[in-house]
Amino acid sequence: MSKPNQTKAYAWLKEKLNRFKNTLFPKAYVCHVCGAEIGEDGREDSLCPKCRERLPYRHDNTCPICGNYVATPGLCARCRTSRPPYSQAFAPFDYTGSIRRMIINYKDNGSPWLAPYIAKYLIDYAKAMELHADYLVYVPSSDKALKTRGFEHNKKVAMLLCTALELPLTEPLHRVSQKKDQSDLTFEERYQNVNGSFILRDDYDRSQLIGKKILLIDDVMTTGATVTTCAQVLKSNGAQEIIILTLARS
Ligand SMILES: [Zn+2]
Ligand SMILES: [Zn+2]
Repeated sequence: MSKPNQTKAYAWLKEKLNRFKNTLFPKAYVCHVCGAEIGEDGREDSLCPKCRERLPYRHDNTCPICGNYVATPGLCARCRTSRPPYSQAFAPFDYTGSIRRMIINYKDNGSPWLAPYIAKYLIDYAKAMELHADYLVYVPSSDKALKTRGFEHNKKVAMLLCTALELPLTEPLHRVSQKKDQSDLTFEERYQNVNGSFILRDDYDRSQLIGKKILLIDDVMTTGATVTTCAQVLKSNGAQEIIILTLARS
């Protein structure tokens, strides 16, 4: 049987640890999508059972290179015509429902505390798909976006992935500018819009990239123009292979 002062010390330590955990995940008691209170079993991903059931997992009918949905198995029309500079693009979810809400809350509604939850989906997916690379690279934000948002959203997630996947992070890319809002543009228009927006950072030692396989991460892949441009910059600076991982596809 424990001595009374040991029991007291244990209770004190347990309380401190719980407080620490609550500081780390202060909103884990409320579903971050619908705001419903959640019990013990929902705290790991901060989703209520309803929202977890509705997670928009992608189905399998996708182009084996770019990951776009296809009507018949095989490469999509665009990849048949012109191969992208990356070898494969992966994403666990469609950009809709709870995942869309989570990304918007994380990036634009001042909820940087969601980073571990977003990272967890990517970590589990990367492990399940056995994605391997020499380095992890994230798509950086422009200085303007960074100033508005106050944090580098992809870097925050990337750092968690690095630790969990034991994959070193390297930061070769700099986002110069974006000419206009991408929302309503086609792939070609987006490509023209972002082409030239990413360059190798001035102080980056490009020898690190030579012959390397890179896992490039971003939050959402829409037409693929952004990751295509980033992959081109990495390849033209010596990287051998690029694979893409985004949380969602729209
Ligand atoms: Zn919910
Ligand atoms: Zn394709």
